[in-house]
Amino acid sequence: MQGLMMNYPLTLDRILAHANRMYPHKRISTKMPDGSIHRYTYADLYKRVQRLANVLKNLGVKEGDRVGTFAWNTYQHVEMYFGIPALGAVCHTLNIRLFPEQLAYVVNHAEDKVVFIDATLLPLYERVADKIKTVEHYVLINAPKGIETKLPNVLHYEDLMAEASDEFEWLTLDENAAMGMCYTSGTTGNPKGALYSHRSMFLHTIGENQANALGLTESDRVLMVVPQFHAMAWGLPYACAFSGAEMFMPGPHLKPEPLAEIIASEKITVAAGVPTIWLGLYHELRKNPRDISSVRAMIVGGSAMPRSLIEEYEKNLHVSVLHAWGMTETSPLGTVSKLHAHHQDLTDAEKWDIKAKQGYAVPLVEIRIVNDEGEELPWDGTTMGEVQVRGPWVIRDYYKLEGASEQFTADGWFRTGDVATISEDGFMQITDRTKDLIKSGGEWISSVELENTLMAHPAVKEAAVIAIPDEKWAERPLAAVVLTDDADGVTAEALREFLAPKVAKFWLPDKIVFIDDIPKTSVGKFDKKVLRRRYADGELG
Ligand code: ADP
Repeated sequence: MQGLMMNYPLTLDRILAHANRMYPHKRISTKMPDGSIHRYTYADLYKRVQRLANVLKNLGVKEGDRVGTFAWNTYQHVEMYFGIPALGAVCHTLNIRLFPEQLAYVVNHAEDKVVFIDATLLPLYERVADKIKTVEHYVLINAPKGIETKLPNVLHYEDLMAEASDEFEWLTLDENAAMGMCYTSGTTGNPKGALYSHRSMFLHTIGENQANALGLTESDRVLMVVPQFHAMAWGLPYACAFSGAEMFMPGPHLKPEPLAEIIASEKITVAAGVPTIWLGLYHELRKNPRDISSVRAMIVGGSAMPRSLIEEYEKNLHVSVLHAWGMTETSPLGTVSKLHAHHQDLTDAEKWDIKAKQGYAVPLVEIRIVNDEGEELPWDGTTMGEVQVRGPWVIRDYYKLEGASEQFTADGWFRTGDVATISEDGFMQITDRTKDLIKSGGEWISSVELENTLMAHPAVKEAAVIAIPDEKWAERPLAAVVLTDDADGVTAEALREFLAPKVAKFWLPDKIVFIDDIPKTSVGKFDKKVLRRRYADGELG
């Protein structure tokens, strides 16, 4: 029909071209393994991505091939985020903290053809080397010349880059072609692959950059603590490039002390990571105060951010926390909890209650809660149901996996396995993952709410609640608690008394046990599988 707009494919090269044209001098900085800071600009990135695309072409990588990355957050890893898709290949970010069997499973299942490996991570990868079937080349990043390795066909990143041209003829790709893939971290069973397309990631980038979502701008300096293998660093490298925000990549320096140092010295405005990272940082900042007032948003997701920690950041450190929810299967951004205009007159305490929720759906993501029969439930803030989502960056089916159809509804929604309430004004609050809910005598107890309430006690550093079998009630809650260093003589009884006025009586944990550390998954979540096993083995009292 005449008069129509252009057919303009939504491919990621346009994001990079935009950054190069509009923000050529904006910087991407990386804290290298030796502690030095590497800096370059979007203009440099643009050139290097073209080189990388030529490198891959020279290695025989073709459209649709999977190329793995086993790397920290670094500028080279950002080059891969753009360079691999530039060729129509798929950037498959490998989780460096997977167990060896899972890592081998994922590389073989994806049939990666080339894998890029950070030299510091080589020993981790070598453990699985002899189980890998499809990889034709390994490319080492930041490796000293003459490094010894038992990997076959090893090449060096900078050698290949130096030999390749920095002019690449950009391809015209189908916007529906795959550009990236991540496997879930396997919190629940074997990792499952989600494949992102140029179009889905492009729209995710636009969605993420909405003012009602994360809203990055050209004046932001973004610290990406969330690993690039964790749901594509939540899409932030693309969101930064499209908005001209500067990126700061911490490399392997993920301990609280270097992170505090980076935030203060680089005047970071937006920092993104999981709650355990911000918990560690908070304790570091209380011990060694630093000026972090440049931070306008501390983005947190991956697990529920305890309300008490939100309060501590906002009240004591004057840093605004932005709680978000998502999944590998949702690219990942699903919801964010920014206050709405009608919240402005609330007290601080009421505002923190809202910020502790996972929030409202960002544009183009639809959410609903349903009961066991699949009937939609009301948004009244109290009715709990399973969260289902759909949208252009929500998974349609898993990569090469039969038998997962129960995760998708007949009418095209993805079943998240999370349970939540949604308030009248659309704020979702996750009460649990279905498998973590405690089913006590036909009633549900939210492990997340119990954990949050316990973590509000000043002597409690971390708390994880699991279901334990019970003859009378089927399941009852057990709380595993880590106390702060200066907690003195706090007893299980004292914690139960603290909880009593705050939760229903039948919610009170039958057992509260003190442990040194809560086991964590490869992406820093409480590993309740391990806790349940420890309990079954009689290790948790
Ligand atoms: P995995 O499924 O392997 O743990 P993901 O990072 O994709 O890896 O996990 C997504 C899940 O993480 C969600 O289904 C939800 O249970 C949890 N999650 C993510 N963000 C939040 C949040 N802000 N609050 C509570 N839970 C969250």
